[in-house]
Amino acid sequence: MSAAASAESPPPPPANIISGKVISAVIRAEIKTDCESIASKVVPGLAVILVGARPDSMAYVRMKKKACAECGIDSFGYDYPETVTQQELMDKIAELNADPKVHGILVQLPLPDNIIENEVTSAVDPAKDVDGLHPVNCAKLVTAQTHGGSVKMNWKDLSSIPFHIACTPQGCIELLDRSGVDIEGKRAVIIGRSNLVGMPVSLLLNHRNATITIVHSRTKDAQSVVKEADIVVAAVGRALMVKADWLKEGAVVIDVGINSVDAPDTKKGYRLVGDVDFKECEGKCSKITPVPGGVGPMTIAMLLRNTVNSAKRAAGV
Ligand code: NAP
Repeated sequence: MSAAASAESPPPPPANIISGKVISAVIRAEIKTDCESIASKVVPGLAVILVGARPDSMAYVRMKKKACAECGIDSFGYDYPETVTQQELMDKIAELNADPKVHGILVQLPLPDNIIENEVTSAVDPAKDVDGLHPVNCAKLVTAQTHGGSVKMNWKDLSSIPFHIACTPQGCIELLDRSGVDIEGKRAVIIGRSNLVGMPVSLLLNHRNATITIVHSRTKDAQSVVKEADIVVAAVGRALMVKADWLKEGAVVIDVGINSVDAPDTKKGYRLVGDVDFKECEGKCSKITPVPGGVGPMTIAMLLRNTVNSAKRAAGV
């Protein structure tokens, strides 16, 4: 292979690695095409509210705005100092709820302690809640109405679901689907039960007819529960917690965790690792996501997709 060719096309990841980097790039290209096809009728718009100057939050916001620009989505940034009041944020959200150019509103979390976070996220119009955190969107993910009843959802195509699903959980399911993992009938163990990740990913796997078990901090003998799983989703926030002897041979592992550990030998002095000990577990899994480069890039791709879907629904296209 020539030097030019190898620079253009990096080698594909090994067969058992689920690369969120590669899969999210495919999805972003799909979103760009989608935006081009609707451009004459609507340009999707995402408003991003950032409070304070946390370096991680600022970096996430930068990445989200850049990804919007690359796909043809307008982004509108609203940056506030830590001293912003609850009322100022509520007023801005009311204004954005009423703005027809804005189809998605994202409040970068966490917010400072003086702000009541769930009051802010609940003030966003559920139709513009592209983070999928509004109680109305959470409830729609739970209620039987979404399964049977008059409107039958196609859980095999999450982009067709007519309300917003939280981005990271949605990204986990896309990773499984686009890697050819069959979910139906499988035993799935989800480690973590947060509203942000563990609970919605459990519900999504349930909607896809996996048999789910949720492991949390009070679970007795978590290791033996995890060992029964065909599919493991780890969303804990504890570096390298899941070891090879926690896994059944051939398990599929989605590692949501992002943990910073000391690495004095590196320039930054730290490195990011998942909740799963990738080095130990890789050989035992039929498929596994790395950290970084696994679930992380999917979260942004799903945010873009939610924004475009919201714009299409608003414009009736
Ligand atoms: P969280 O709100 O802190 O929830 C952690 C969950 O893990 C809780 O349900 C907790 O149980 C459970 N847990 C804690 N210790 C445990 C243990 N020893 N055994 C079993 N379960 C245990 O965290 P989160 O927001 O869900 O995030 C989880 C991880 O995902 C973090 O590393 C976060 O940085 C990462 N994350 C990544 C992305 C991404 O885009 N890749 C997005 C969001 C989050 P209890 O409920 O009993 O306390």
